[in-house]
Amino acid sequence: MHFTTQPHPAPMPADQRDEALKDPGFGTLFSDHMVTIDYDEAKGGWQDGVVGPRAPIMLDPAASVLHYAQEIFEGMKAYRQPDGGMALFRPEANAARFNASAARLAMPALPEETFIEAIRQLLSVDRDWFPTVEGGALYLRPFMIATEAFLGVRPARQYKFMVIASPAGNYFKSGAKAVSIWISDYTRAAPGGTGAAKCGGNYAASLVPTGQAFAKGHDQVLFLDAVERKWVEELGGMNLFFVFDDGRVITPRLTGTILPGITRDSLITLLREEGLEVSEAMYSIDQWREDAASGRLVEVMACGTAAVVTAVGKVAGPDGAFTIGAGGIGQTTARLREKLVGIQTGTVADPHGWMMRV
Ligand SMILES: *Cc1c(COP(=O)(O)O)cnc(C)c1O
Repeated sequence: MHFTTQPHPAPMPADQRDEALKDPGFGTLFSDHMVTIDYDEAKGGWQDGVVGPRAPIMLDPAASVLHYAQEIFEGMKAYRQPDGGMALFRPEANAARFNASAARLAMPALPEETFIEAIRQLLSVDRDWFPTVEGGALYLRPFMIATEAFLGVRPARQYKFMVIASPAGNYFKSGAKAVSIWISDYTRAAPGGTGAAKCGGNYAASLVPTGQAFAKGHDQVLFLDAVERKWVEELGGMNLFFVFDDGRVITPRLTGTILPGITRDSLITLLREEGLEVSEAMYSIDQWREDAASGRLVEVMACGTAAVVTAVGKVAGPDGAFTIGAGGIGQTTARLREKLVGIQTGTVADPHGWMMRV
């Protein structure tokens, strides 16, 4: 794939940018550029890539994405390395998942090397946008939308793949705390639906349940399966691990209604490497309550790109609340977070070749 670069004619002044990079928060600050690759079935598919100034995009009001939500995305980070360079964590896994999402939403596949090259291109023009705050990272958001102007319900024939970058602060500012979660009556994904795809529609449907959790004073929402309302699936944007006192670990099996997290997959590898027995299995909310009460369940970890690994301290629902362990951050959670963050930031060996220099 060929890329042309059109540098921003008026990038943010360096002093203003550097000030913003000291405390970027999450998701509101953006780098100067963006990558766009158009797809047109009539022109043979993917066109040349463009690295251009970040700017609003022109869409026909009949563009399919605006009516039928043909949209997918990824979320990943570039991490600062000890020598000052940057590296991505398992970008091939994001590229592969992006294409799995594309297949479910009837969208065209993007070659994995093009997905990664697009990110490299953006990072090469916006390297000065790396946050300076301790623990910060450059969050990358690749996404694809259907742009064809056509109101019939069928897959579009024109798409836009884009990548934007957003400097992000440390998710755990000072003193990470265990999160409290609310068991939702709403469901996130039904068998045969789009739960395993990273598509915007899943998030649109999770806003009301997440809002309820917040209103009740919790940090996250927990979704149970849509059929029996019994099996633990995942949080709004994080996968779960259950750690028992005998060294066994359970993470919900990928039944098609759970988003296959790359952090989840990496934790399974790291836990097994430590000699822990990890099973991907069905785990019910009643069993969870019982295991927490008996003390057999010692820790619950939630994981995803944004928060890496965090502890779940408290679970609440219409039938009351319960606490896991002492309600704080357990040893396994702390150790795994340190290990994974260490690999990502280049201070711990990377035996699996997960990091890609950019
Ligand atoms: C993205 C996402 C995750 C976490 O995936 P990672 O690859 O680990 O960041 C978990 N659940 C949902 C619903 C997600 O969208």
